[in-house]
Amino acid sequence: MRVVKTIEELRSFIQDYKRNGETVGLVPTMGYLHEGHMSLVDQAKSYSTKVVMSIFVNPLQFGPNEDFERYPRNLEQDQAMAEERGVDILFTPEVSEMYPQKPKTTVRVTEVTDRLCGASRPGHFDGVGTVVSKLFNLVQPDYAFFGQKDAQQVAVIQQMVNDLNFPVKIVPCPIVREKDGLAMSSRNVYLSEEERGQALILNQALKEAEEAYHAGKSLAEVKNGMISLISSQPLAEIDYVEILSYPGLEPLDQWDGRAVLMALAVKFGNTRLIDNKIILES
Ligand code: AMP
Repeated sequence: MRVVKTIEELRSFIQDYKRNGETVGLVPTMGYLHEGHMSLVDQAKSYSTKVVMSIFVNPLQFGPNEDFERYPRNLEQDQAMAEERGVDILFTPEVSEMYPQKPKTTVRVTEVTDRLCGASRPGHFDGVGTVVSKLFNLVQPDYAFFGQKDAQQVAVIQQMVNDLNFPVKIVPCPIVREKDGLAMSSRNVYLSEEERGQALILNQALKEAEEAYHAGKSLAEVKNGMISLISSQPLAEIDYVEILSYPGLEPLDQWDGRAVLMALAVKFGNTRLIDNKIILES
């Protein structure tokens, strides 16, 4: 595995790949790797002959009062995990390499960003769209792999790729969970033991919502059921609980035969967790 810190070096390796007819899969991450990230690498290996993983905690996608500074980082451990899993290039640029100055050009995706995390975190998806565009230009991947854990991110990136004609196929990958159901996240390390215990309510609420849906409950009943179950945990502070059409992310008053995304964001102490479930069949 090659660990690459500069754009110049990255471009030169990518040129060699292209000359040799390799297909390239990109796995963008912010590091502090876990099995969720690794599942994207496994997918990438099954699609392409070379896998490039980026690790970059992108300041552009954090709000002023968010956790950019304290976001967990452990490059040494990440490097070992990536190498063991068969990543070919690990791109780990410094902020000054990606943004030698504050960019005057950014990418803004509208409408799909109006709700959910787009509404709670103003500017977040502009930061995501901008950094992912840069990575697409640098790595020129044939495929790029994104987790459904960040379902809105997948929708935003797919919209951006459609609108701007990036020659890349986006591959959404399923959510990987801990044995007890908590969706894996680098931010889970922030949780105290008590918070982590109560956070199990998120997956439980989504499971019960799916059951209620299949049992014929109305959309309002399902949504209220999730809200009251999550609120039963004293440390849980709901940011949003929403049920939207999928993949369009349009608001729904009732089930209308389209696939739906049940999505939630809940704070436990200072830690904001997100989770979701997609129900495809009507
Ligand atoms: P992050 O490092 O948190 O920005 O995540 C990098 C990529 O890994 C994104 O595409 C995430 O959606 C994906 N990812 C993070 N956690 C999980 C998970 N538990 N299951 C599947 N994919 C994940």
